[in-house]
Amino acid sequence: KNSVPQRFFKYADLSVRLAGPNQLNPKPDVNKLSFGKYFTDHMLKVHYYEGMNSWQAPEIMPFENIVLHPAAKVLHYAVELFEGMKAYRGVDGKIRLFRPELNMERMNNSAIRAGLPSFRGEELIKCICRLISIDQEWVPHSTASSLYIRPTLIGIDPTLGVATSDSALLYVILSPVGSYFKATDQQVGISLLADPRYTRAWPGGCGNAKLGSNYGPTIQVQQEAIEKGLQQVLWLYGENKELTEIGTMNIFVVYINNNGERELLTPPLNGLILPGVVRNSLLAISRQWNQYKVTERSITMKEIIQLNSDNRLLEIFGAGTACVVSPVSYIDFQGQELHIPTTEQPEAIYQMLKKRLLDIQYGIIPNHPWSLII
Ligand code: PMP
Repeated sequence: KNSVPQRFFKYADLSVRLAGPNQLNPKPDVNKLSFGKYFTDHMLKVHYYEGMNSWQAPEIMPFENIVLHPAAKVLHYAVELFEGMKAYRGVDGKIRLFRPELNMERMNNSAIRAGLPSFRGEELIKCICRLISIDQEWVPHSTASSLYIRPTLIGIDPTLGVATSDSALLYVILSPVGSYFKATDQQVGISLLADPRYTRAWPGGCGNAKLGSNYGPTIQVQQEAIEKGLQQVLWLYGENKELTEIGTMNIFVVYINNNGERELLTPPLNGLILPGVVRNSLLAISRQWNQYKVTERSITMKEIIQLNSDNRLLEIFGAGTACVVSPVSYIDFQGQELHIPTTEQPEAIYQMLKKRLLDIQYGIIPNHPWSLII
């Protein structure tokens, strides 16, 4: 079956069919954007058919519904993976992507884990840039908003066997978004439910890949948090109740270590953690600054509780594309109420990191090597 060499798709083969004037949608008010509710006028599609020269030519077309056979594997076995990235309109009016090659690398790793075909990341980036430039008026003219980019890859084989999908569809849709949390939550911090009865990922599983099947089962737990008046889930793992992630963000902790130094800690990429683009970036910025110690190691709830009662726990925050950097102010852990002083620190590390990240993304630092100008 694998004797036919796989042909990768190329930007050079892209075809473009533009929406007619009556197919164009009005742009929503930037102050009323809720996450992922509005979509732009065009989309990108690339089909894959095993044996038939594999990847087909990429196509940009008016945004439309997709038609699937009722047996399509994605609908039965969740043969699906996705990415989340953003295009930012900078203070200079230019549109930038942030380290898109890392999203492409992660998407290909997810594809391998899902048994779906991989592709050349740089070719998809070029297709995405073309799609964004066609829909460029949808990139909000605001440094509080951005255009969320959702590359998606699904197995569409119309057969019920739990087996590799011989056909696949890669598509990209775009959605203008505002900030994930309300402005007040950014200032006072978010509250978390830490319930060790639930696990997001486990050794040998696929928590380190961005598969849709990792997310569906989290919705009920997230709902439970909301019903308790809390905003997000703090995902714990194992008997020692290791902290792994916050909702769909990587977790960072700042504390005073045994040598009396300020230390920034995040769990290691041990298979339970999604390798976040923002996580990678905050670690790189911190190591370059060299103002505090930076560690990748696991941390348990027991240690968090001890540090907090010793007044050595300074900050906990989440980091990710959708939510940027979000300070945590409260954790509900098995009836214990933990107040976390993240937003009370005089020179909070989360604030410094958030500012640097936004300065790069919105072109306040104009030609940063992490920016790809469209
Ligand atoms: N963890 C999980 C579980 C996520 O879904 C995300 C969002 N992709 C992240 C962390 C943050 O990753 P990134 O910085 O690449 O957005």
